[in-house]
Amino acid sequence: MKQTLDKKAFYTRLYKMLENVTPLTADCGGLCDCACCAVTDEITGMYLFPGEKVMYELLPKWAKLYDIDFTYDNGKEVELITCIGTCDRKLRPLSCRIFPLVPYAKRGEKLQVLMDIRGRGLCPLATAMRTQDLDPLFVKRVTLAMSMCMKVRETREFIYSLSELLDDINMVF
Ligand code: SF4
Ligand code: SF4
Repeated sequence: MKQTLDKKAFYTRLYKMLENVTPLTADCGGLCDCACCAVTDEITGMYLFPGEKVMYELLPKWAKLYDIDFTYDNGKEVELITCIGTCDRKLRPLSCRIFPLVPYAKRGEKLQVLMDIRGRGLCPLATAMRTQDLDPLFVKRVTLAMSMCMKVRETREFIYSLSELLDDINMVF
């Protein structure tokens, strides 16, 4: 019998895994005035992983959800979460917890955890550092969390589509 994923338990576990780790052992927000949390005139935000919306059943005041035209797994829609430049740290989305890293995988190939090219020019770490320059514990936890995502069909398909998007962006840079 096919088992269904308990999404709440899955994301709660991932959130806990990434609760107390940061890209550097020192607060990197001082390098850039927390550029990744800054609010701009454009609607910018972070992609929710498939089913992660379950963590926002009671939508906090600082968050808004948007449907966007990025899809995975033959047309399943990805949602974007935006904030007001601050959030309840315990509720920050998975994409914020792993930034400036991002999962990258092609079908049939191994997962990699890379610097997110979308952070170039915004995040000093994504602009000038390599994954191995970050705090090893952070890299280890992000890798573990993304490996767990690769074991679940929905999140694996999302990572495949996200990787294609990163390839497209990489061609423009
Ligand atoms: S933009 Fe980069 S350096 Fe700045 S707070 Fe975010 S992760 Fe840290
Ligand atoms: S949700 Fe929190 S961590 Fe994510 S961008 Fe907004 S303020 Fe930063």
